[in-house]
Amino acid sequence: MNPVTYHRAASVAQALESSAAPGHRLLGGGTNLVDLMRKGIERPTGLIDVTQLSETIALAEDGSLLVGAAARNSAVAAHPLVRSRTPMLARAILAGASAQVRNMATIGGNLMQRTRCLYFQDEAGSRCNKRDPGSGCDAYGGFNRYHAVIGGSPACIAVHPSDMCVALAAFDARVRVAGASGTRAIALVDFHRLPGDRPDLETLLEPGEVIEAVEIPAFAGPSAYRKVRDRASYAFALVSVAAGLVIEEGRVADIRIAFGGIAPKPWRAFRAEAALRGAAVTQAAIDAAMAAEFADAAPLPGNAFKIDLAGRTLSALLAELSGSDR
Ligand code: SF4
Repeated sequence: MNPVTYHRAASVAQALESSAAPGHRLLGGGTNLVDLMRKGIERPTGLIDVTQLSETIALAEDGSLLVGAAARNSAVAAHPLVRSRTPMLARAILAGASAQVRNMATIGGNLMQRTRCLYFQDEAGSRCNKRDPGSGCDAYGGFNRYHAVIGGSPACIAVHPSDMCVALAAFDARVRVAGASGTRAIALVDFHRLPGDRPDLETLLEPGEVIEAVEIPAFAGPSAYRKVRDRASYAFALVSVAAGLVIEEGRVADIRIAFGGIAPKPWRAFRAEAALRGAAVTQAAIDAAMAAEFADAAPLPGNAFKIDLAGRTLSALLAELSGSDR
């Protein structure tokens, strides 16, 4: 690992001032960044520790749940406000990583974590446009079981690894960001970029900006999160689904759906939601919604199974939420 300087920011203003220096990176729990530094994939010259910034978990004036960027994942998952208002967020966080990692990882860091694509992680032996722009992508024609079936590009088909962000995408969360010219809010569904021809650019966070908090609006109905993976624990999702459902007079009055494990960003299924709104929750309606959502999918031989798996996982989750045993 290269030598780095270390500075602990006591305020957002200090973090902004320190992070403006070239080669400096913000450090949350370090559960992803430090791993990548050990592998030589990340080579910052300075680290700005932002774990002393806000850990607040509280209700905002507009009724949204406000979670400070430095709040630890385990603290968020266990908080009574989270469990009572957005239980699927707690389930999503608990589905990700080990208890030890959750105790260290912060909400801000979770948003910024990088892909676990095997070729991205193999700094010495693999071509990767995300790590080394223009070098190629060994996932095409390689082992792509864990890669994207939708939203990818010829340059990159890596998936976003976060469970938490899938839940946040489903429920219209906003990322509050501070910069030199003030604060701004970015919709979570826009925060992560699709790769296009620049897979190295992963979020809308500009250099010199700091994540302050995440705001999660209330949702009126029940919600849940389900994750399918190759082994029962400590594995990333093949497919995950976060959903919320409100049924009135036998038909869908409101619905939220987001998928993980299938796309380069948490994938809000707007087309599927539109297809299901006003319909009865039947298998035929879900099949039609999935067909609409995945009309632009570009699966590969190694990961085409994910589309069917996503449909079956959604079907099971909606059955759970609607109380049916379909
Ligand atoms: Fe790199 Fe993306 Fe290709 Fe993986 S899928 S090797 S991250 S360019």
